[in-house]
Amino acid sequence: MDRYAVVGNPVGHSLSPRIHAAFAAATGQALRYDALPAPLDGFVATVEDFFRAGGAGLNVTVPFKEQAAAWVDSCTPAAAAAGAVNTIERRADGFRGHNTDGAGLVRDLLDNCQEALAGARVLLIGAGGAARGVLRPVLAEGPERLVVANRSRARAEDMVRDLPVGHVAAVAGLDEALPPFDIVINATAAGLRGDGVAPVSPAAVRGAFCYDLMYAPPGSEGTAFCRWTLDHGARRAVDGLGMLVEQAALAFALWRGVAPETGPVLNALRRGEV
Ligand code: NDP
Repeated sequence: MDRYAVVGNPVGHSLSPRIHAAFAAATGQALRYDALPAPLDGFVATVEDFFRAGGAGLNVTVPFKEQAAAWVDSCTPAAAAAGAVNTIERRADGFRGHNTDGAGLVRDLLDNCQEALAGARVLLIGAGGAARGVLRPVLAEGPERLVVANRSRARAEDMVRDLPVGHVAAVAGLDEALPPFDIVINATAAGLRGDGVAPVSPAAVRGAFCYDLMYAPPGSEGTAFCRWTLDHGARRAVDGLGMLVEQAALAFALWRGVAPETGPVLNALRRGEV
């Protein structure tokens, strides 16, 4: 049976094994998908052991996406531009790195949330690996303007510097992003470390559709960012569970050649049934 896994640290909490098991059952594919913990200084050894033992493909999560981009033999343009790989495909000509995070976010926004990016005024908070992954796919949808706000302004400037000519992207400090915005996307790891939500000015989220790349456990009251934005007048707030399912579906399709339906899995996850 073909073996897949998500490699990360920590990775025990990952929903990916459940999502891929649900896709496999729905599409009639026989495969195994595990969580694969790697020591912080042992990413390469863990990945090489996995593939030496016959592994068919890997997902990569925090904090190894940049190391994965350096390890693979080749990258897609999206992964190269992001400098981060979340999906490794085993091919006859070597290991190919993909980044399905950005396309997963766009599919969740457009298909599941039914929000339009074309013509929208978008604020992207963060300039880490996740923000790099979503920047170009969001811009490709044609927003009217896109502002990147980050705690370290220099990192945001670095992120937009090599964008193709014609893309309108501005940079701001966290409290300098001037509203109005139609869509606000939180791509920071602020809440991950338990140190609160990204402190953008409340005016930036008023009336906006707010999206948190982080996701909350099923049945909980949502992420800290979602709750904070609703408290400050956001018209709607959604967490990143849909993005997780969509990026997983894109990886599954790459590996198996079959595109799974995402709606039923996302709904079941939200009900805590997967
Ligand atoms: P990184 O560590 O690469 O990025 C960290 C980012 O968060 C930087 O912009 C950093 O700012 C900012 N940040 C961290 N702490 C704070 C704070 N206290 N206040 C303000 N800003 C802060 O992480 P990733 O980019 O890999 O991941 C970001 C988030 O996206 C994570 O929560 C991750 O789980 C989520 N994610 C979700 C996915 C999904 O499928 N739903 C897929 C991928 C990621 P600075 O540059 O100043 O340090």
